[in-house]
Amino acid sequence: MIETPTGHHFTHIYVEEAAAPFPDTDRILRLLPQATVVPISDARALFNRRNQHFQAQKSNPKLILSVDHGPYLYRGSERVQSFGDHQVYYVAPIRNCVYNCEYCFLQGMHASGDLLVTVNNQDMMQAASSLYRDRGGYFLSISYLTDLMAFESLLPFCRRWIEFAREHPELLLEIRTKSDNVQALRDLAPVANVVLVWSLSPESVSRKHERGAASFRNRLLAARTAQQAGWRLRLCFDPVLRVPGWKDLYHDCISETFRRLNGEAVEQVSFGVFRLHGDFLDRMRKLYSQSPLLHADWQRRDHLTTYREEEIEEVRHAVQTSLYRHLDPSKITFVHG
Ligand code: SF4
Repeated sequence: MIETPTGHHFTHIYVEEAAAPFPDTDRILRLLPQATVVPISDARALFNRRNQHFQAQKSNPKLILSVDHGPYLYRGSERVQSFGDHQVYYVAPIRNCVYNCEYCFLQGMHASGDLLVTVNNQDMMQAASSLYRDRGGYFLSISYLTDLMAFESLLPFCRRWIEFAREHPELLLEIRTKSDNVQALRDLAPVANVVLVWSLSPESVSRKHERGAASFRNRLLAARTAQQAGWRLRLCFDPVLRVPGWKDLYHDCISETFRRLNGEAVEQVSFGVFRLHGDFLDRMRKLYSQSPLLHADWQRRDHLTTYREEEIEEVRHAVQTSLYRHLDPSKITFVHG
């Protein structure tokens, strides 16, 4: 077993032929010297092949090092950014995540549970730079299809993109995380156009449904460290799960959050209920036959699987009421869709 500083195991590293000469490949191989290295010709073919079992692979995920040939930038929607109406884009330096949240939509999106890591990040940055030259500032999420901060000790993608944002001041760069690995950024000066977003859940919810992710307490401490260091900070409570006692759990979670953080300096908070698009739930149910969460009696409407309307309203009202005790309403966004 090979353990990374974040506590995750990589016993095998698949290295695409084209990825072999890149410095990031070299770095990963140096940091994980005991992993078995398997040369392959086509990383995407391996990642996308049929008849894989996402959850079986998650129990011992492999790294697949690959060269991305583009497109490097994808248009995002409100699902990517829940805080405003800038033009939204995302990049995918890594597909899949070291964590394994039970509700994660990546299970419905990717055939494989392994991590597909791009070693030619420079090409992504060139594409982002060229878009910037053409159209000026935009919103860029770099951790939409992964938790990049959790991987930072192996490849410093967050650090590189933060430096990129420093040189592109009209860009708004978002890094969203359930990690507590803020120490990885400790020597970086905060950047005015970079926003760190901690995704928070009550401790019992995170322990049960967000496997591998940092505890609520540790995420909160990491967010506080970032806030005290001067980083722009946003929070999200998403998805809110209507587990037994959910009203008290989320109320207490929000109270504890604002006991630890300076609410004045929290820029914005978004929240939303469990929801999945398209046929993701069908695929996820096949992978997770034992999950009461995924096999609950969800409502499907307009390509969205979620709670019933009155349940959504109840969550909206309860969470909003808790948030209003700490924040100006203009800072609160309910996300749905
Ligand atoms: S942290 Fe985010 S990307 Fe990672 S498994 Fe959880 S929901 Fe998915």
